[in-house]
Amino acid sequence: MSTIGSDEPASGQAGLPLPWLAEPLRQTLATRRGHALLIHGPGAVGQFELALALAQAWLCEQTSLALLERPCGACAACRLVAARSHPDLLVLVPEALRESLGWSGDAGEGEDERESSKKKPSKDIRIEAIRAAIAFATTTSARGRGKLIVVHPAERMNPAAANAFLKTLEEPAGDSRFLLCSAAADALAATIRSRCQDVALIVPPPALAEAWLAARGVAEPGVLLAGCGGRPQEALDWAESGVDATAWRALPGRVARGDASALRGWPLARVVDALQKLCHDAAALACGAQPRYFPAASLSSGAGVPSLLAWNRELTRLAVDVEHPWSADLAVESLVERSREALKTPRSAAREGEGLSLNSGR
Ligand SMILES: [Zn+2]
Repeated sequence: MSTIGSDEPASGQAGLPLPWLAEPLRQTLATRRGHALLIHGPGAVGQFELALALAQAWLCEQTSLALLERPCGACAACRLVAARSHPDLLVLVPEALRESLGWSGDAGEGEDERESSKKKPSKDIRIEAIRAAIAFATTTSARGRGKLIVVHPAERMNPAAANAFLKTLEEPAGDSRFLLCSAAADALAATIRSRCQDVALIVPPPALAEAWLAARGVAEPGVLLAGCGGRPQEALDWAESGVDATAWRALPGRVARGDASALRGWPLARVVDALQKLCHDAAALACGAQPRYFPAASLSSGAGVPSLLAWNRELTRLAVDVEHPWSADLAVESLVERSREALKTPRSAAREGEGLSLNSGR
């Protein structure tokens, strides 16, 4: 599986929202000519933004520029893509993501129905949306440069939708191209993956990501970036939801004191993720290695590796079940208490395989 690098400076293309996508965009335009691309990689590194930039480049009408220099950002087609109203671009995203991505008008399957019944917005891409996309793909291009369908995140196609989509990939309509975005490509059916050309994104160079975060007002961006495993859009999400570098740095100490207020109000998935990272770093420190997610000075050493391994196993089991409708406050208190135990258990007192049972409040 080839990896598209992202360590060269931006050049040429206009309107790229994420500077580290310049080189992946150029490489993809130069080397990927298939009718279906799968843009994948770790979460929050710009899969969706790259798909839109590719769509804009292919639809761009500034033909005095070479393809590798597009999108121009200024022609009528580029402006229509930027305004999210290009007639040859269809973006499929789950209802639950439409607002945050600003694609509320597209693929409105069941919208009225949902409005009237006040159902929770779906996290899936449903078969109705795929059927609409297939119909869209088979009509003639309105502006003559082909049709583009972006599916994000592709792993959210439910089984019926994925089946219908597979048939379209097997027998593509004339001048339509599909851009599938995924942060969990392993969750996609192998039959779909095998019919797509591969575009693998990696986390951007830290200097580029930190400059991008700093330009958005994030203080000490390196601390949050490390906390997010190098994924800048996630670091920005954290900053915008009130998790700053000071709070992140204080987290290990507060958890070690059993202070659940450090994590209260966070989505449960983020709580479990943060505790897994703390567990990882505590174990790294106990083994004499460098921590990865927290500044070394914010961590206290002394926890025994067997205790941390047992804790890690519990967190791993919980991580697959975080969508469960738990009582969030009870779960956080229970998790922090368990974490405090694990962090204070010294090497001599813990035995391999030992672990407390977790009362998660279910
Ligand atoms: Zn253009």
